[in-house]
Amino acid sequence: MSLEVINLNLIKKNIIQSSLSFGHTPPEILVVTKGQNQERIRPILDSGHRLFGENRINSAKEKWESLRKAYPDINLHLIGPLQTNKVKEALNVFDVIETIDREKLVQAILRLFPSAKRSVRFRIQVNTGEEPQKSGIEPKKLVTLIEFCRKHGLLIEGLMCIPPANEDPAPHFALLKKLANRHKFKHISMGMSQDYHVAAMLGATEVRIGSAIFSD
Ligand SMILES: *Cc1c(COP(=O)(O)O)cnc(C)c1O
Repeated sequence: MSLEVINLNLIKKNIIQSSLSFGHTPPEILVVTKGQNQERIRPILDSGHRLFGENRINSAKEKWESLRKAYPDINLHLIGPLQTNKVKEALNVFDVIETIDREKLVQAILRLFPSAKRSVRFRIQVNTGEEPQKSGIEPKKLVTLIEFCRKHGLLIEGLMCIPPANEDPAPHFALLKKLANRHKFKHISMGMSQDYHVAAMLGATEVRIGSAIFSD
């Protein structure tokens, strides 16, 4: 078995323990493949895993267009910021866009969405740490953005966050969970290689993991 698959299986085991001991359904694992080539991704696909994430459109497009031909049922998520001039490409490359964070972006998507070939699903990124340099909507502005999406017909299915780098992630995960519950969102995308167990204990439905799977 390849190292990537061994790592993934170990993480799955850890996650099941963390989430079940806190009464949650174990989250799905989004395997983050940014910076990884097809040779390192294939063993994971061959093991049956189908859920993947990338943070840049250009590199994802090259890598995943051919992989999608071989594995048509992959589920590819955009987890990095999205510029309005890249919306068309994003709608063609990704199955889920997790980083909706402003009205302009919603409008750009709605202009193209009726003609987009595949059906894409959407989540809102919340800037739980209110960091000025980071994308994501501030928690206090979330309601307005959700209402904007509802009014204009963009269905939002979940929330995602990236907590500040040098802080305890737990309060951020707890806040995201609370916001998701309040708005009855099904999907809560939080937790990465360093803190996925914390996210699993706090009710993540999806953890996004890269380096813990691909590091040797
Ligand atoms: C890179 C990235 C991840 C994965 O980070 P690791 O620490 O490598 O697990 C998760 N989410 C986002 C948004 C990322 O850009």
